[in-house]
Amino acid sequence: MEHWLNKRAALSPNQIAIEMEDHSVTFLQLQQKSQQFARQLDNLKPNGHIAILSDNSIDMAVAFWGCTYLQTPVVFLNTRLSRSEWQQQCNDADVGLILTSSHYLEKAKHLNVSVESFLKVKKLTVNEVPLLDEIDAEKVCSMMFTSGTTGRAKAVQQTFHNHWSSAVASSLNLGLLPEDKWLVCLPLFHIGGLSILIKSVIYGMPVYLLEKFDADKVHQAIMKSAVTLISVVAVTCSRLLERLGSERYPDSFRCMLLGGGPAPKPLLEQAKAKQTPVVQTYGMTETCSQIATLNEKDALRKLGSAGKPLFTATLKIVDEKEECNPNQIGEILAKGPMVSPGYYQHKKQSNEWLRTGDLGYFDEEGFLYVVDRRSDLIISGGENIYPAEIEEVLLMMDGIVEAGVTAEEDKQWGQVPVAYIVKNDKQLTTDRIKDYCKDRLANFKVPKQIHFRDQLPRNATNKLQRHKLK
Ligand code: ATP
Ligand code: MG
Repeated sequence: MEHWLNKRAALSPNQIAIEMEDHSVTFLQLQQKSQQFARQLDNLKPNGHIAILSDNSIDMAVAFWGCTYLQTPVVFLNTRLSRSEWQQQCNDADVGLILTSSHYLEKAKHLNVSVESFLKVKKLTVNEVPLLDEIDAEKVCSMMFTSGTTGRAKAVQQTFHNHWSSAVASSLNLGLLPEDKWLVCLPLFHIGGLSILIKSVIYGMPVYLLEKFDADKVHQAIMKSAVTLISVVAVTCSRLLERLGSERYPDSFRCMLLGGGPAPKPLLEQAKAKQTPVVQTYGMTETCSQIATLNEKDALRKLGSAGKPLFTATLKIVDEKEECNPNQIGEILAKGPMVSPGYYQHKKQSNEWLRTGDLGYFDEEGFLYVVDRRSDLIISGGENIYPAEIEEVLLMMDGIVEAGVTAEEDKQWGQVPVAYIVKNDKQLTTDRIKDYCKDRLANFKVPKQIHFRDQLPRNATNKLQRHKLK
């Protein structure tokens, strides 16, 4: 396949590729900048992989595309990690050089890896080196760490073929309109962000890029800058709906893709009431973003579902080794061309199915419902309890702002659920919370203890780390 960015620059040179608040670049400019960056990068000859550490910016996109011209996989580092976590990830992914924005330069300099700023690279001589003009689909394009929600983050290898398949499968579901413009406020170092940058080049679609999430800026962009699609996670979705107030988004705004974690029912209801087209999706770093997505048509009818597997993807639900019946909960297994060949330096799984570690079920019509993480399942007196279900109920209660549920060992029941809560109502008592739960949950699901906290343990992606609640 011809290099995607070359092809795109030839097809739509003057189309906007990336739009930011104060400046934008066309596909031709993006190609030229990226090629020049690659030729300058050639001076550095790193002893290992190249990593990028940056908030979203055009420089970051240029550095990424630049690396693709040198056929070198890019390792993405999460800006919110601590210095020792960066060091660990650099070791795990054999990073020999970190490219960074000026903002992180000082901090990164203390790592045991060479570091250069984008700015510095752009001042190096432009070497006459041959650049890749054909993409080798099976080669690794990016390496990205999982969020580290359930334990130590793993370096996922994503090939060009994975990214290509993901972009195609997504458009076969959501469709592609000539006026589409996708707003990116998720970090590019997560697959939810990077996948849109790649789609932009494959589709010829402009991306509206924000340095980071800012409810007001996102709101203004949707209202005034002709954004048609946006990807969000539950927290950002909720903040946007709050910002929306009694206003309505323009009709041209067609999809708010919600993924990355569970979508609380009340949030979906709220979106429905505000006529905001929220569409749930399920995916992970290992599947290069979406693997199942709800269709816009079914969004309201199947509230709470993550939809059906995308065209080239297959999912199955298994209990032990048996495939589950409709409505029976089991582990979600995934297969398809967007599924990563494996973690870096781990033996490739011999099984062609990816074990997601997530529990879910299909309804009779084949719609997927993601229930919870397998590792967080609580078994109490032989009954399965899914912490997500209890957290959802707790979050509906006025005065509760955050809730996390985990298992506690119990002599009688083996395990019992206990809740950790952040409240914004001083009067709220554990008894009132328990009563609220009793009205809405079976008795064995009602948290046996309730602990109040100022905050809950979250990873750098803001996901709740249940194993750290205690
Ligand atoms: P780690 O694998 O290191 O523990 P992580 O699984 O959180 O971290 P990601 O790849 O960023 O890392 O997240 C993917 C996970 O997010 C999925 O496996 C699933 O648990 C959760 N998730 C994604 N979409 C949904 C959804 N629609 N509903 C429920 N959970 C979801
Ligand atoms: Mg995971």
